[in-house]
Formats: sequence, structure tokens, C-alpha cells
Amino acid sequence: MSRTLEGKVALVTGASRGLGKAIAELLAEHGAKVVVNYASSPGRAEEVVSAIKANGGEALAVQADVGRVSEIERLFRETLDAYGRIDILINNAGIMITKPLADITEEDYDRQFAINTKGTFFAIQQAAKHMGSGGRIINFSTSVTGQMFPTYSAYTGSKGAVEQFSRQLAKELGPKGISINTVAPGPINTELFTAGKTPEQIASVGSGNSFGRLAETEDISKVVLFLAGPDSGWVTGQTIRVNGGFI
Ligand code: NAP
Repeated sequence: MSRTLEGKVALVTGASRGLGKAIAELLAEHGAKVVVNYASSPGRAEEVVSAIKANGGEALAVQADVGRVSEIERLFRETLDAYGRIDILINNAGIMITKPLADITEEDYDRQFAINTKGTFFAIQQAAKHMGSGGRIINFSTSVTGQMFPTYSAYTGSKGAVEQFSRQLAKELGPKGISINTVAPGPINTELFTAGKTPEQIASVGSGNSFGRLAETEDISKVVLFLAGPDSGWVTGQTIRVNGGFI
């Protein structure tokens, strides 16, 4: 295992399960010290930390709701207090509210955008303040931003803004030596995608790519590892669809 992230500190939001967990474990395997952020699953976050430590890595679980700017600021303070620096920010925390237009409430809309959009924006702001040259910011969108899916309007709206943040901020952060990119996966085998769906629905949507199977978290985390590492220095301002040819 090459330890390309030795000496680096990574903050992964929403790392108690799903994709964030896979990313946190992979970055730690490659030598990064990892802050495992979560909102409401302390037990699962501690399991991720224990798995990383059992594998010889270093990690710390920090609770913070990224939908609140004051909590994002505390999350960065606790990261800096623990490890003294931050090199990699993975803005992975997200929720998906899918409803027909008529059923979306103001509360749904505010929650969708607070976590996915505001959380990402203000975490980028904190990262830009504290990262040095070589810093990496990786945000999350979805391949559905390129499609027309009923019930996905609020979710894809919240992610479309994230794609623009990466594009527009690349030239503000470039002079500091910081790159910023967005990964836009297709369906992945996590609770966000599988919850509330029948096995038939999961199989039908999940196999709508070139390879005929649902993506696993490792299919995406490997691309994140590349973007977080030393070989991606010339990639910035991009939205990278990692979806097996889903779109
Ligand atoms: P998931 O399995 O539902 O996990 C979501 C993670 O986000 C959990 O760790 C959760 O923490 C955390 N989280 C939720 N609200 C939070 C908040 N307010 N503050 C901090 N953390 C919070 O989701 P996933 O599938 O891994 O998705 C990860 C990212 O990929 C999301 O941005 C999602 O939009 C994107 N994505 C997913 C898919 C897919 O098919 N799964 C496809 C395209 C894009 P708790 O456990 O504490 O609640």
C-alpha cells in the first residue's frame, strides 16, 4: 500500500456510514490522519475510527451538523486543535429528499439546501482560510444533475449549486495552491440510495449503467483518493461524473 497521504490531515464530512466511511478508511490507509464527522450516529462514527486504528491509522470522530455554520466553524477548530493542520476537505455529508413538486415543504427545501449546499459552501470557506498550498477540496454532487428525473428537483437543485461552487472558486483558490473539484456519482449501494426502494427498484435503477450492476462505495472512493493525492494537482474546477456510464 503506497502511503501517498503521509503527513496529511483529512476532514471527511458525513463519514459515519456509506460513501464517507469508505473514503475515510481509504484515505487513512494511505497515511492521512482523518477526522470522521457525523451528525447523529456516534456509535457508527466510533466504529469507523476503531476500524482505522485497527488498521494502523489515526482518526478522530467529531459530531457537527454541517447545516449550521457555527458547527462547521467548531468542526474546523476541533480538527486544528487535534492535528494542527488541514490538507484535504471531503464535503461528502448529504441528504436526499425526493418528492413531487406539490409536496415539497419550506422545511424540506431549507433542510435539503442547508446540509447539501450551505454546508458545502461554508466548509469550503473554512478550508480556504486554513489550508496551505497543496490543499485539496472535494465536493459531492450527483449524476442526476444531468438528467430529468421526477421528484429530484430539490435534491438536484442543491447539488447543481455545488458544481458551480467548484467551478467558480477554482480561480479564487488556485493562487493559494488549493484545488477544488466535484465528484458526481450515479447510484451507489448506500442507505441514501436504497432506503425506501424495493429490491426490484434498486436493481432496475442500479443496473442502468454500462456495467449492469449497482456501484459499490469503493468504485467512488478510489477516484476521491486520486483527487486527494499528489497526482491530481493539475485538476481543478471540474465536475467528474463517476457513474459507470450511467449518463
Ligand atoms: P448516506 O449513506 O445516507 O450517509 C450520509 C452521511 O452524511 C452519514 O454519515 C450522515 O451522518 C451524514 N450526515 C447527514 N446529515 C448530516 C449533517 N447535517 N451534518 C453532518 N453529517 C451529516 O449517504 P451516501 O450515499 O454515503 O452519500 C454521500 C454523498 O454522496 C452525499 O452527498 C450524496 O448526495 C452523494 N451521492 C450519493 C449517491 C448514492 O446513490 N448513494 C449518488 C450520488 C451522490 P449520520 O450517520 O450521523 O446521520
